Amino acid sequence: MSKDIKQEIDKLRAEIERHNLLYYELANPIISDFEYDQLVRQLAELEAQEQDSSPSPIQAVGSDLSTGSKVIPHKQRMYSLDNAYSLEELRSFLQRIADDTGSFPNLCAELKIDGFSINLFYDKGILQYATTRGDGFEGEDVSANITAVEGIPLQIEYPEPVEIRGEIYIAVSDFLAINEERRSSDAKTFANPRNAAAGSIKLKDPDEVIKRRLKAFFYSIAPTGASPVSTQIETLSWIKDKGFLVEPNHYQCGSFKELSDFCELWDKKRHMLDYDIDGIVVKINDQNLQNKLGFTNKSPKWAIAYKFKPEEKETLLKSVEFQVGRTGAVTPVANLEPVYISGSTVSRATLHNEDELIRLDLHDGDTVVLIKSGEIIPKILKVLPQKRPIDSSPIRFTKSCPVCNSILIKAEDASIHYCPNLDCPAQLQRRLEHFASRDAMDITGLGESLIARLIEDGQIRHLPDIYKLDYTRLAAMDRFGERSATNLKAAIEASKQQNFDRKLFALGIRYIGEKTARNLAESFGDIDSLMSASQDQLLNTPEIGQIIADAILAFFANNANLELINELKELGLSFEYRTVKISENLAGKSFLITGTLNSMSRTQAEDLIRKHGGKIVSGVSGNLDYLVVGDKPGSKLAKAQKLPSITILDESALLTMMEESS
Ligand code: NAD
Repeated sequence: MSKDIKQEIDKLRAEIERHNLLYYELANPIISDFEYDQLVRQLAELEAQEQDSSPSPIQAVGSDLSTGSKVIPHKQRMYSLDNAYSLEELRSFLQRIADDTGSFPNLCAELKIDGFSINLFYDKGILQYATTRGDGFEGEDVSANITAVEGIPLQIEYPEPVEIRGEIYIAVSDFLAINEERRSSDAKTFANPRNAAAGSIKLKDPDEVIKRRLKAFFYSIAPTGASPVSTQIETLSWIKDKGFLVEPNHYQCGSFKELSDFCELWDKKRHMLDYDIDGIVVKINDQNLQNKLGFTNKSPKWAIAYKFKPEEKETLLKSVEFQVGRTGAVTPVANLEPVYISGSTVSRATLHNEDELIRLDLHDGDTVVLIKSGEIIPKILKVLPQKRPIDSSPIRFTKSCPVCNSILIKAEDASIHYCPNLDCPAQLQRRLEHFASRDAMDITGLGESLIARLIEDGQIRHLPDIYKLDYTRLAAMDRFGERSATNLKAAIEASKQQNFDRKLFALGIRYIGEKTARNLAESFGDIDSLMSASQDQLLNTPEIGQIIADAILAFFANNANLELINELKELGLSFEYRTVKISENLAGKSFLITGTLNSMSRTQAEDLIRKHGGKIVSGVSGNLDYLVVGDKPGSKLAKAQKLPSITILDESALLTMMEESS
């Protein structure tokens, strides 16, 4: 196998593992199912082409097991489903079975509920426990929450041991109401009903689970002894008879035409249901044939999920507003007639920049087609000019700042417009929010609404005014008071002592996040050295590339920023790196940690290394001197073992190095 293909396979495996973690364990996916399935297919093709059978995340059922949870082995394995993304793929799947058996199989088609699998175990007619699918072999015990799920009988008329399987979900109407309640109490809203259901069933607080209004549909049984049914259609009736809820729109059919009509019908009608479905599960009806076909490592060979394409919805453009961000970048945002799409109600969509406005040729009152890019971020796919009102005019990018009226500037090679006025109230608001935030200057009490009031009241006109507040005036403000003013004063005064790296991060230089700020602070020591650094010096700093170096140079080339820093210095803020050094035992040496350490967290260990004069680097390369290895090390260990210049240490060897002669 060529090195490039091997690298591609490794990259895809790592990417899929990351998305599995986000989806199954954290219920917080960042790409759409469609995009995820494309990655899986790409990897499957490469693995087949290269006959690579080394361990791969696509050989197994994606695991939802959380660390430290109680698990219970399944009596019979739980599987995933293979997917078809087109009717053609579905036809080929069924044709292969027809070719093997000599006739087109009888089928049971069911709506594929987009929820979270659940397994219930009954013995002597009593519900014994409930588990998630887990890794397919064992599931996470969620019995404590199961009574909060509507439609689950605690007793059934069937004395034999049996597992009953189904899908937990939250109805769309309940989901919208839950999100509305969460919004009004400032709690984080859920991205879609599936994530909400997946997150809810594992909660440790049963009272909170009740509020999530979970429901369930059931579709399969796994008896330990002889099966009480002989077809999938009979299975569904059996489950219903025993008192469980079964999705009512299942359909028995015997030809591909009937099946494809059913799939197309539900692709169109799915939005009329009060629960999300993401496809149709097609199962061979006859259990004898199912048993003959068997399973792959991951899914039954007698069933397939026909997955719907991402949803598109039409809606009306109400207006376009231009928003000013912290760096002054102006972004057009479409206000839309609210529309429910792929799991949530959307009333706004970013239009990114002028190029996007031109691409869409957006006009007042346009009807637009909306999709959720990655089923997460709303995006206007296109406009429908045929539905455009007569006399409507094109929407142009604003020439001036919508807040302070300054003429916008546009970098020649970039498509972004900026408001050049650093004291523009909109920019000021965002910059102050960032400046005061927990990871920057950490000024407790100086949040979004107080900042807005202080700007409106004229008490803050530019950033350094934070340190010049008149606390008597502040205490006299409506809904504020003496005590809040005293607390705020203490927090603002304390912020002057923050470390240089936090102050650097707080300044809000483009592309400078916390980690980059720390690298710069460590490398340059104080702001004067950083301000006078050449491009080469910046590029020689760990993890600083061309874009970041240019952003730093541009920031310090702006007189207004130099004045800002001088003023902050005069107000008592020092921009020098001060770290409490314990020793210089690790001076000049670079470190990286992989795996879990016993006596401290990774962040604590990194901090300690710095305090002993060492540096932390972000990856295994020629710049790394020591790799510290804890429990369950990642791929970094194998990589480091190939580089003879890297010394591999365990935790106690690291502690000894720190302590030696200190
Ligand atoms: P799946 O959701 O594609 O299909 C299997 C599941 O469907 C079953 O376990 C069951 O829970 C459910 N189901 C619903 N109705 C059913 C019915 N009537 N009969 C049988 N099963 C029914 O498979 P999966 O293994 O749970 O997840 C894999 C899929 O999850 C991927 O194909 C992808 O679409 C998605 N995924 C997405 C991401 C992401 O980052 N977006 C990450 C991992 C997985």
